[in-house]
Amino acid sequence: MKLADRATGISPSPTLAIDAKAKQMKASGIKVISFGVGEPDFDTPDHIKEAAIVAIKEGDTRYTPAGGTLKLKQAIVDKLRRENGLEYQTNQIVVSVGAKHSLYNAFQVLCQPGDEVILPAPYWVSYLEQIKLAGAEAVIVQTRQENGFKLTADELKAAITPKSRVFLLNSPSNPTGGVYSREELAALGEVLLQHNIAIISDEIYEKLLYDGLEHVSIASISPELKENTVVINGVSKAYAMTGWRIGYAAAPAHVAKAMADLQSHSTSNPTSIAQAASVVALNGTQEPVKSMVVEFEKRRNYMLERLNAIPGITCPKPGGAFYLYPNVTAYFGKSYQGKSVNNATDLANLLLEVAEVAVVPGIAFGGDDFIRLSYATSMENIKEGLDRIEKLLGELK
Ligand code: PLP
Repeated sequence: MKLADRATGISPSPTLAIDAKAKQMKASGIKVISFGVGEPDFDTPDHIKEAAIVAIKEGDTRYTPAGGTLKLKQAIVDKLRRENGLEYQTNQIVVSVGAKHSLYNAFQVLCQPGDEVILPAPYWVSYLEQIKLAGAEAVIVQTRQENGFKLTADELKAAITPKSRVFLLNSPSNPTGGVYSREELAALGEVLLQHNIAIISDEIYEKLLYDGLEHVSIASISPELKENTVVINGVSKAYAMTGWRIGYAAAPAHVAKAMADLQSHSTSNPTSIAQAASVVALNGTQEPVKSMVVEFEKRRNYMLERLNAIPGITCPKPGGAFYLYPNVTAYFGKSYQGKSVNNATDLANLLLEVAEVAVVPGIAFGGDDFIRLSYATSMENIKEGLDRIEKLLGELK
């Protein structure tokens, strides 16, 4: 059976090979420490779980409108007003099967063959594949470590062509943890408006912020920017609800309608029970998020100090998300018992095979000079994992 070109063009996630190997090692009894995870290691708060149980018991188990229940859309409208200073109506909200699905829908309705999407690197790997699946071309723009991996207005200008259609913004960022300030966003926004380029703003890590930083949605900077932006968010990371699969988009009404129509022919509504639970996540107490952030910040501080104390490693301080993204180029050209390290993929393989520590090589995010370490794992694991990394790096010759 012949596959369509669309299917053969999809690259499997480069993280999967390492992940599969780590799982295999774990299954054979090896205590692998994993810094590879992309989800909070906390449990979904009890009051949210309870809401799902009530939803089941009360028969909230049927199809809902394809783009989400009115109750959840209203909770999202209220959240965007309360927390982001954004005014939307419920017909501008589309609830999907995770933020990943919201992003997919957004690319599908905004892009077509011949269009370019400006994608700052390092980038989360699914953007690239979703852009390709929409028939568009990603124009990858490398950001700089010394700049906290944040794209400047000048760098953005240099990437614009007559084909530029969409700009992908991810703040706080996966994998760098970089957080754009209001001024930085305003400068980017001005350039984007001048060139009539739409913005897809992925704000899924919004609540995971440290050092008292404030999240700013680019859509809240001016009414013109709001008209030009699709805001993407969800409950996965903030409420430790990765398995529940609820994400959402807020957009101009005609864009939201197109996204909902598209979804009505693919998945239909996201799970009714998860939607009911998400209403409670958004409207209920935010205390569990706050305690999670306190714990993440402790871990980030510890890990950052330990990593930067390792000779040759340089790691900028990330303001958000739960990842560190150190530069490991100082180890390129070295080797361990005949195994040479020429890029971050080699180093990640060596760390897994010898130190039994899983990290994600930067190649997954568009640059093989870095590795990504997630601190969504216990302090005990973090300490042990860093001891192992430090030891192995010290033994490279
Ligand atoms: N956007 C970014 C940057 C992510 O890292 C992730 C998950 O890893 C997502 C979106 C997807 O989140 P969801 O679980 O809501 O699909």
